[in-house]
Amino acid sequence: MADAVVSGVGAGLDVERVRADFPPLGEEVRPGVSLRYFDSAATALKPRSVIEAVRECMAEYPANVHRGLHVLSERATEAFEGARMKVAAYLGVDDPAQLIFTRGTTEAINLVARSWGKLSLRPGDAIVVSELEHHANLVPWQMIARETGAELRYVELTEELEYDLDAFDRLFDDGRVRMVATTGMSNVTGIRPPIEEIVRRSRERGARVLIDAAQSLAHERLDVAGLGVDFAAFSAHKVFGPTGVGVLYGRREHLEAMEPVLGGGNMVLRVERHRAVWNELPDKFEAGTPPIAEAIGLGAAVDYLEGLDHQAVARHERALIEHAHQVLGAVEGFRILGPRSTAGKGPIVGFTLDGTHPHDLSHLLDRSGVAIRAGHHCAMPLHARLGIPASARASFALYNTTEEIDHLAGALGSIKGLLRRR
Ligand code: PMP
Repeated sequence: MADAVVSGVGAGLDVERVRADFPPLGEEVRPGVSLRYFDSAATALKPRSVIEAVRECMAEYPANVHRGLHVLSERATEAFEGARMKVAAYLGVDDPAQLIFTRGTTEAINLVARSWGKLSLRPGDAIVVSELEHHANLVPWQMIARETGAELRYVELTEELEYDLDAFDRLFDDGRVRMVATTGMSNVTGIRPPIEEIVRRSRERGARVLIDAAQSLAHERLDVAGLGVDFAAFSAHKVFGPTGVGVLYGRREHLEAMEPVLGGGNMVLRVERHRAVWNELPDKFEAGTPPIAEAIGLGAAVDYLEGLDHQAVARHERALIEHAHQVLGAVEGFRILGPRSTAGKGPIVGFTLDGTHPHDLSHLLDRSGVAIRAGHHCAMPLHARLGIPASARASFALYNTTEEIDHLAGALGSIKGLLRRR
């Protein structure tokens, strides 16, 4: 944990020290133009400790795990399984075998939909999602609904685009809901659905709950055991780790009952000509050579997260989102998607700027080193609800500063001025 940032209790976050951990910050993206990175919701930057952990694995013990009986393989296996244990401790999970390494959130949710869905869903059963969901938490459910005859139900948002618990409750009236799959934080509006209440009400009514923690985990801890969720999924690359690896948490009883989706090496104990016996958890769901260096990098990312003062980070991110609403909201023609209030919101601002297409906006901002996102952000049903085909998004992380947000506001103002003159 060479460069963890530990602030004293009550102290602010030492942002300059945090920024020094992330190589592209402060660097020029082209001559004379330094980077302002507002695309952490797409993927977060990686601290030096994560980069070093991946490099070390590649350079010093680039061996396969589980199979070899030589020293490099032992080292790789130890680091790989060590990463699983670090994730378990971070999520408050006693038994690391309940954590499956996947390629990311998308694969984790597909695994649950395919395997749990096939086992548990019958014609007429219902799966509940919300209008806020990312395609990764919609399409796998559409697919399995079609296959099993189950029905996909949407929690409609309120007029202000808040999560509506009354609308949620109404979906349970006929007693057919078997699964509630919900995002922990919208990747477009930053809204956090009331997860504790959703989990409590769903389980009370006998439905399983899956939390898509892809966006939320970089900003708040997820106590999966404490919350009592059935499944949770996240991607390493959004929590300062490498791409190519993510995690599915599942309750042991579900994972034991579920069938693997991929067959191959490692997931079997014994193979005969026409049948095979599945391996124990978690191997049953990890066919083939896993993303070894990536998982080890995730372990280093968890170390990094553990080394942070979470209260100081939360205060800093709150200050960022409040500042963003204030200064960006003051730019002429700037419209925030979702509530104007920052209460209960993560550090994500989805927006449109009157008279500009989001793609043009992101190109123009890129000229001044500002990285934002433009498009439908893999949330087409939400955009349909908003009545727009696309939007722009600025997303913040612990390494951003209010001065950077001022720069973004200035750049947006200049673009508005430029377009007016045309
Ligand atoms: N869910 C949410 C809320 C997301 O923001 C994303 C990534 N944008 C995903 C799921 C999918 O993550 P991945 O592409 O890493 O599988």
